[in-house]
Amino acid sequence: MNEHDSERISGILEGQGYQSSENAENADLVILNTCSIREKAEQKFFSELGRLRSLKGANPGMTIAVAGCIAQQEGAGILSKAPYVDLVFGPSDIGHLSDMTARRGKSPLVNVGGDPDYHRKRLPARRTGKLKAWVSIMYGCDNFCTYCVVPYLRGRERSRTPQDIVGEVSELAGQGYKEITLLGQNVNSYGKGLAKEMDFPELLHMVNGVAGIERIRFVTSHPKDLSDRLIAAMRDLPKVCKALHLPVQSGSDRILAAMNRRYTHGEYLDKVKALRQAMPDIVLTTDIIAGFPGETEEDFDLTMQLLADAKFDGIFAFKYSKRPGTAALKLQGHLDASIKEDRLSRVLQLQNPITLQKNREYIGRTLELLLEGNSKKGTTLTGRTRGNKAVNVSAPHDLIGSLVNVLITGAGANSLSGRLCE
Ligand code: SAH
Ligand code: SF4
Repeated sequence: MNEHDSERISGILEGQGYQSSENAENADLVILNTCSIREKAEQKFFSELGRLRSLKGANPGMTIAVAGCIAQQEGAGILSKAPYVDLVFGPSDIGHLSDMTARRGKSPLVNVGGDPDYHRKRLPARRTGKLKAWVSIMYGCDNFCTYCVVPYLRGRERSRTPQDIVGEVSELAGQGYKEITLLGQNVNSYGKGLAKEMDFPELLHMVNGVAGIERIRFVTSHPKDLSDRLIAAMRDLPKVCKALHLPVQSGSDRILAAMNRRYTHGEYLDKVKALRQAMPDIVLTTDIIAGFPGETEEDFDLTMQLLADAKFDGIFAFKYSKRPGTAALKLQGHLDASIKEDRLSRVLQLQNPITLQKNREYIGRTLELLLEGNSKKGTTLTGRTRGNKAVNVSAPHDLIGSLVNVLITGAGANSLSGRLCE
């Protein structure tokens, strides 16, 4: 989501005549687009800001701007910590960027009020890819999971109209984009507050109808809002990839309740079962938080059990991180860093062989690949399956951008390898 916000920021700046620069040294304007989801992201930001301070010392004309969730969280506080910053603006204030940069060189400006019309704006974007594009369908979140800062920083849930979304997807199709990822904190509650009633499965039907787009993905879905209608839409719509990121966070009902997630271990596994019944090949991934306040060994075992049962294709696991203003901060039983670390490493130790095994199951099968470019090693091309697995394959460069069939011949933890089918 932040990367896409950066694409919007670049798009607006490009419209003003700015050009991107490979390094910050000689730049007239440097914008740090920040994340505050965990403490580590915040630490990275402050060390980067220190680096920019010395660059500005050598280039006093430089304007430094701080965007994103730390900007929203700290507001004018950034200026007191770092008086060399010129501009602070929040994630819902991107639409006013050109007005803000127009007054460069004047006194510092803080703009974190949040534009109530942000979701109605059609802003330009300077996209990083030519084949795959992100399209925001909603902003904000109403869920208030007790560990999470997002609702405080990105505000209440606001959905863009289906007309604006389909309009943007059609434009992208016209520019040659093949794959669209619909973005939102909780895409499957899409539609709240729209003039005409509308839900996420209906939106998927509409986007599926856009000629030229071959693949549709979406992130992130909340388990409590995963309806049978959505499962049916995923199963029936040919362009919708059979891949779902469905964060579970914990396997303990007690901890899930303390997190305000509004589902149980059993309900979550029932959803996984329903998904696999409808789509036996579905690729499932999840997020885990290790060491939430009050998490006992018994609670943690339930998370491990859930991972062993669900057999995800991959997980993103994090140590619980204290975030300002969240309800979990005030809970009893915050755990030592060493306990959180130990549980995180046990989660990964359990999951890594499952991920590898899941990847190995593809050996001998033929999969459709969207060829995206050179692989990291540079000797082969790389592409993604509909399940979003990376595959390296020897293929001529002029096939980049096309869909090809590949016989999978090898599998590691992070990627597969294959041979182009004749
Ligand atoms: N809206 C999405 C994404 C939220 S942020 C969702 O509901 O899944 C992405 C992930 O960061 C979350 O799923 C969660 O696992 C993790 N996360 C959020 N806040 C956290 C915190 N305070 N400490 C550790 N991990 C956190
Ligand atoms: Fe945060 Fe929960 Fe909203 Fe996701 S659903 S953004 S974890 S509050």
